[in-house]
Amino acid sequence: MTRARLILIGPPGVGKGTQSALLEERLGVKPLSSGVIFRSEIEADTDLGQLAKSYIDRGELVPNGITIQMMVKRLRSAEVRNRGFVLDGFPRTVRQAEALTEELEHEHIELTGVVSLEVEDEVVVERLSGRIGCTKCGEIYHSAAKPPRREGLCDKCNGPLLVREDDRPETIRARLRVFHENTQPVVDYYAAMGQLLRVDAVQEPERVFAQIVAGLGV
Ligand SMILES: [Zn+2]
Repeated sequence: MTRARLILIGPPGVGKGTQSALLEERLGVKPLSSGVIFRSEIEADTDLGQLAKSYIDRGELVPNGITIQMMVKRLRSAEVRNRGFVLDGFPRTVRQAEALTEELEHEHIELTGVVSLEVEDEVVVERLSGRIGCTKCGEIYHSAAKPPRREGLCDKCNGPLLVREDDRPETIRARLRVFHENTQPVVDYYAAMGQLLRVDAVQEPERVFAQIVAGLGV
């Protein structure tokens, strides 16, 4: 077991989830995302969970301090100490990255590396905008990669298929703008620290994975 300690950064639709899953399957590292951590703290009804929920219920963003505390609690856990981790979707901003650096130093945890999965915006728009979802059972199709047998109808339940709001090209471009504004500086931050590995994410997932493993020496 390698106990790799990684951060994965990349725009929506770049395949972070796929790489996280491969890292877990092949290297045994524990995937951690802020969404999953929020949910488990809220379900366990911890003090931090209750605090986070009070913001989410009001439709507000959970403050950095609370997110960081939850993250650190998880990083300190025996499971994550033993398995290593791959952070997905965190840190999203330079402030979060700086806070994370401080906490990791405090805990004497050293990162193996930070992987930036890179792809042109238009490739993301093309990949995501072909997605069509079933309005009844939620099955996802893709106009090029996984078309339904009958146009506009779900193979599984005959329900009507629709392009989801999230998958409209203008929505995807707006999400990419937010990503570039907030997260590109995070990439620069880790590059300046000499911890960044850039990987061309247009390739097949297996090749992307092989480059991550080779690049980090894990
Ligand atoms: Zn369906």
